[in-house]
Amino acid sequence: MNELASSIENKRSWHPSFIKYTEFIVSAPNYKGLLFERNSEELVKWVITGKSEKGQERRKWWDNQCKKSGIKIEAGCYAKIALKIHPTKRHTCQICGKELSLEYVYPNRRTIIALEKEFDISVAPFSKNIFQIITELVKNTDDIEKIKRIFKIQQTEKLTKVTLGDYIKRNYVDNFAKGSLSPGAMSNSPDRFDGFHSDGACCRHESDKGRHKTNLQRYGQDRRVYENWADGDWKMADRLMSYFRKHGLSADHIGPISLGFAHRPKFHPLTKEENSAKNNRMSFNDVQVLITDEANGETVISWHSAFIWNKLKGKVKNDKDAVKLSDLMRKNIHYILIIFSMIDENEYSAFLEQFLNPEHSFFDYSFEGFDPKTGYYKSFNQIKRSGKNQQNNITRYYRVAFEKLQEYRLIDNRKNNKLKNENVDNELNILFTYLKANRNDDAKIQLDKILNLLTDLAERNW
Ligand SMILES: [Zn+2]
Repeated sequence: MNELASSIENKRSWHPSFIKYTEFIVSAPNYKGLLFERNSEELVKWVITGKSEKGQERRKWWDNQCKKSGIKIEAGCYAKIALKIHPTKRHTCQICGKELSLEYVYPNRRTIIALEKEFDISVAPFSKNIFQIITELVKNTDDIEKIKRIFKIQQTEKLTKVTLGDYIKRNYVDNFAKGSLSPGAMSNSPDRFDGFHSDGACCRHESDKGRHKTNLQRYGQDRRVYENWADGDWKMADRLMSYFRKHGLSADHIGPISLGFAHRPKFHPLTKEENSAKNNRMSFNDVQVLITDEANGETVISWHSAFIWNKLKGKVKNDKDAVKLSDLMRKNIHYILIIFSMIDENEYSAFLEQFLNPEHSFFDYSFEGFDPKTGYYKSFNQIKRSGKNQQNNITRYYRVAFEKLQEYRLIDNRKNNKLKNENVDNELNILFTYLKANRNDDAKIQLDKILNLLTDLAERNW
């Protein structure tokens, strides 16, 4: 988390129950020796950036706790120790004040869908834990079989109404079973004092996303830009897009963002119907336009997808090839986001934040001589802005980018879905060693190496 975002969160208005929670936690003996300060309003400064000196001090404290508890310091260790140390295992949401368990007791989206299907009921996310749900639903052996199917428990496992809950506790809850259950707050140390995200899962969930979506649309922003970690001056591109909308046109990226291209202020005008029919696939002509723009010095591709683009663009000779490239690039960005989500999950979100471009928020643009037929404009004006809106925008930007990664955590069998490639796994382990040691430059080079490796895999499928 960067300085700006953390200062925003420290100033954000806190729910009264959350304030009570912070006071309870900082005075709990379990956290003795863990650094915290108070702001001018006497509130606990809950967030400290992991990279800062104080953040490092906090990390040392957590490392020490791991050692004391015999937890090996490796990827995922902070999630374990933060839960172990927590005095009540219950977290209060900074936004809505709701209290949720920190254990993996809430059915995730996949499990909710399965429960709703098997039992013909509707389950509100984070309303009940899995034990409450089982107690309510399981009446006979048929119901036990349903639960076994949902949790993919072996047929041969003999379970009764009495032993079912215990089985799930031992094999799923205590095992952080990410494929089927989730906690009431995601782990996040050393940034947050208690080692958990301040927003509870209640406020990071689907319903909440819907709200952000409307917000984004209201501000004329394209959510996909943030979700795909796209490069480019997103502010300028968003503004130009709004000119298309005013003319009832859809602004079509020649290189689709969902394939890893940059969000740059250059579009083709399309009617809305044409645009949705295109389905994020490039034509031979699109690829040629992109190569020409690039030769003219424009950045058309986001850094993370430049590897595959540079390796394969020269192979495209016709429309069929262009579609093939589109499909490989789509798969590639999927893998990229899986890798990012693993980095995020292992508490290295600060490393990822350096790849976002919040600075564009501080400028606004207007265009002159816009021609809706071609999508071109004669000139533009740039205006410097610095206000609350700009900061809110940045918060939203970070939030959407990281929410996408959290969504990736929920992907079933992410590991298998992943790369099934020993080479990639080995290089990932090296990356985590660098991240652990705070060797940022080495970690960046290593990430490039991994992205290059993915590209080799894609090339084999050409
Ligand atoms: Zn909440």
